[in-house]
Amino acid sequence: MPAISFKNVSYSYVDGNESFLALEDIDLEIADGEFVCLIGHSGCGKSTLLSLLAGLSMPTAGEILIDDAPVSGPGPDRSIVFQSYSLFPWQTALKNVMFSIRQTNKDISKEQAKMRAMELLAQVGMEDAANRYPFQLSGGMRQRVAIARALGIDAPTMLLDEPFGALDPLIRGKLQELLLRLWNEGEGCCKTAVFVTHDID
Ligand code: ADP
Ligand code: MG
Repeated sequence: MPAISFKNVSYSYVDGNESFLALEDIDLEIADGEFVCLIGHSGCGKSTLLSLLAGLSMPTAGEILIDDAPVSGPGPDRSIVFQSYSLFPWQTALKNVMFSIRQTNKDISKEQAKMRAMELLAQVGMEDAANRYPFQLSGGMRQRVAIARALGIDAPTMLLDEPFGALDPLIRGKLQELLLRLWNEGEGCCKTAVFVTHDID
């Protein structure tokens, strides 16, 4: 049984009297634990599809089910990594990761959250930069922290919208490998991942 299913999903952006059909009649099934890439050129509707799955907007027609339940909004079962601006600029890397851990695990102590956040930062090779603020990090480092923060939510599904799109090809390749490694054997193990990109690699 697929974990995620889109059934005849359409979406129109409406602005006053104008309406723009961005997605039409999408059927898609994603199995539990599958890593799926959505590839297409700019403007084809990838981000629209992902934001529907994230529950940030609702389909104009059709429905999206996760484990047979309709998506009615964002939830702790889905973490998201965007292309940029995903970190809180006023918090250090460590605090950014601790925030997500404590959001979804209210009972955890500050010390435990800190330990867990340091583990996740180590997973993405960022433990030495834990006390730096986003503006003190390169684009690639920021996205590593963003991945650690998404993993901190410990959601069964990870949604990634061109997370490495703004990075140079060398760094992008490295982070793609890192993400796959985490997904295969590390922290991301057994998660369902939906990865939006326009990059064939
Ligand atoms: P992608 O992520 O594949 O580049 P998007 O999902 O962002 O594409 O956009 C799909 C289409 O919807 C594009 O033609 C875009 O211009 C249009 N679109 C996106 N956001 C809006 C909006 N807020 N209002 C109107 N049209 C939009
Ligand atoms: Mg997009």
